[in-house]
Amino acid sequence: MDKYGLIGFPLKHSFSPLIHNKAFKYLNIDAHYEKYEVSDQKFEHSILQLKESDIKGFNVTVPYKQKIIPYIDELEPLAKKVGAINTIKKSGNRWIGYNTDLYGLLIPLENHLKLISSVLIIGAGGAGNAACFALLNKKEIRKIDIVNRSKENAINLSHSLKKEFTFEGEVYDSKEIIKNRNKYDLIINTTSVGMGDLIKESPINITSVAHKKTIVYDLIYNPKETLLLKTAIKQNLRVINGLKMLIGQAKKSFEIWTGQEYPANIISEDFFYKK
Ligand code: NDP
Repeated sequence: MDKYGLIGFPLKHSFSPLIHNKAFKYLNIDAHYEKYEVSDQKFEHSILQLKESDIKGFNVTVPYKQKIIPYIDELEPLAKKVGAINTIKKSGNRWIGYNTDLYGLLIPLENHLKLISSVLIIGAGGAGNAACFALLNKKEIRKIDIVNRSKENAINLSHSLKKEFTFEGEVYDSKEIIKNRNKYDLIINTTSVGMGDLIKESPINITSVAHKKTIVYDLIYNPKETLLLKTAIKQNLRVINGLKMLIGQAKKSFEIWTGQEYPANIISEDFFYKK
């Protein structure tokens, strides 16, 4: 049986095994996808063990999308530019790294892009980086501001983006954003604030930065509605959670690993959120 999996910490919330194992079963592929929850202290040891194992491929999630790069033998060009990966395929004894988050992230925005020119990205980690890259590749988007708990990380992200793209963009820390007078067409939460131990928290107060037609997109998919999204719904704003992105990035990973298209219509939103 071929082995696939997911490395990260924590992983309790992850829907990835459901998505991949459903397709393996449907297509009669003799393979299984499982979670490998790895603490920071055991990260290097676990990666070296995986290198010796017969695993065919795996996904990488919080907080290792950047940290894993030194262990990768070859990076697909886009992943190299972004500096973060979420998918690894074993080819012979070599690990090839890809970033399928960029593709997944845009899926729920495709029909709205014409209405979006200014964006506020909350967070400056792997997902924040991927969000900025994905959006700046779209001609419609020319203003991206970034707010992050640590301003230094936001500044570093902004500098690396400005080497690749021409765009307008300010950076703020969580306190400074309150004084900001800009209103954004799209606000994306790319932090983990709103899930796990942080489920009762919201990364920012959106009231001062949203206009009537602002779309609020939270990359978190579990819970289905974070506090940020609940607040946006109360203000009658359009909201998107992270499920479509999760499914989109997973489909691309599946194609990279198996060379087969992910089967149509075998999963739907109800499949994940049924009580
Ligand atoms: P990283 O660890 O790379 O980055 C985490 C970000 O969250 C940083 O900006 C960090 O700020 C911020 N942060 C963490 N804890 C706090 C806190 N207590 N208060 C304020 N800010 C905080 O993680 P990723 O970027 O890889 O992932 C972030 C989120 O995106 C996760 O929730 C993940 O589930 C989601 N995601 C969803 C996907 C999907 O398919 N739907 C795909 C990818 C990610 P600082 O720089 O100050 O540390």
